[in-house]
Order: sequence, then structure tokens, then C-alpha cells
Amino acid sequence: MIHNTICPYCRHALEIKTENRPRSRSVEHLIPNTSLSKRRGKGEGDFYSCRKCNSAKSKLDDIVGLLTKAQSDNESFAYKSLEKTILKKKSIPYRYETMINSAKYEDDGVHVNLPLDASELIKYANYLGKGMYFIKNGKAFNSYRFVMVIKIFTKGFHNQFKDLYNDEQNSDPIKDLETNPNSNVVAEDECVIWSQKMSYLIIFHHYFSFSIKIKKRNKLNEEASNNSMKDVHNSMSYKQ
Ligand SMILES: [Zn+2]
Repeated sequence: MIHNTICPYCRHALEIKTENRPRSRSVEHLIPNTSLSKRRGKGEGDFYSCRKCNSAKSKLDDIVGLLTKAQSDNESFAYKSLEKTILKKKSIPYRYETMINSAKYEDDGVHVNLPLDASELIKYANYLGKGMYFIKNGKAFNSYRFVMVIKIFTKGFHNQFKDLYNDEQNSDPIKDLETNPNSNVVAEDECVIWSQKMSYLIIFHHYFSFSIKIKKRNKLNEEASNNSMKDVHNSMSYKQ
């Protein structure tokens, strides 16, 4: 647990002696429990954020958590996660209803539209990037000096990569990544974070990942950052 005094997400000073104000201090798990079924190391990688950022992120945590669990090769686990979050509710939230209605059966599985839009996914990647930057550097990300180049990879990409890697190495890329010295296994098979200075790769359940590179702000990097947002827009469906 890192005992910080500034919110890594919005850079506001945290109020320590209050509980219910927007800038009050609250414990933040960068990798939320909603993405995991296994228990992770207690307090590992946790820090404080303000309540306002914490609750904005936790809304997205729930959606991204479901999305990543639904990618699992363990079909019954994937189904149970969907059932628990969506089907057991009295009324299905609109975003999940449209996801279910978009389902198409194809040779390689069921394709559905993501239950969140590109701007929400990028916002989520921003939280992950700022959190990782803070954990690695001990200070809050400064968006006047740096930009984030974000890429999001869905199941189609990971499947192709897994096949290519297996042909060459005769092993599973994620299992190999878990043993890499630059990796932190938050929970085996569920979340691995590879990081090196200003580059972070966060893979959930083998098939959904965020690649985040932090670069000094200049015109070229700003363009790269904008282009990666377009990439996300263009790959807004995933395979289950
Ligand atoms: Zn904040």
C-alpha cells in the first residue's frame, strides 16, 4: 500500500480528515477485484485516490471486469460471470442489453459489440496508465509534459498472436510472460502486468489487453496518441 497525499488520477491534494467529500482519501485498487476471481496479494499496488476519481473509475471497473472475464477460455467461468452481472439482475442495464442483442454466431465463436464506447475505454486506459506511472515513478502523471499512446487488443488479435507464438516457441505467450522478470502476476491466468520504465502492458484473462506507452509531449507523439484512439474506434467488437 502506497501512502500518497495527491490523487494520481486528478492530481488534487487528498483530504485526510474528511470521509464524504469529493477529494476525501479512499483506497484504490488499480486492478479491481471485479476483474479477478482469485484473491490477489493484500494491498499490493494499492494507493490512495480521491473519492471522485475512485467512484468514476469503479463504474468502468465493473464493465471492463465483466468484459475481461467473459473472454476466459474457461467457458463456465465466463458464463457465470455474465450471468452474475447481467442475467440475474431484475432489469438488464441498457448497455448490456444492446451487447446481448448484437450477438452474432460465427465459426470462431460469438461476436458481440463492446458494452462501452471508445471514449470510455480510453478513459479507462488513462486510469491504468496514470496508476502505473504513479506506482513506477512515485509521482502523478503530468499531462502537460507527457502523452499516453494507448492500444487496446481484443480476443481476435490475441488468438492470432497465440497461434504464431505457439508455432515458433511451442508454448503459451501469456504463461511465458508470467515468468518474465519485468512482469507482475496480479493473479495467475487472470491479470499480468509487464512494465518497463514508461511502457506498460496489462493483460486480462489472456485475451484483453491495454498497451500504454508514455512519451514526452511533442507534435509527433500527440499525433501517435490521437491515431491510437482512432485504432480503438476501428476495432470496437470482440470475440467471445
Ligand atoms: Zn482524483
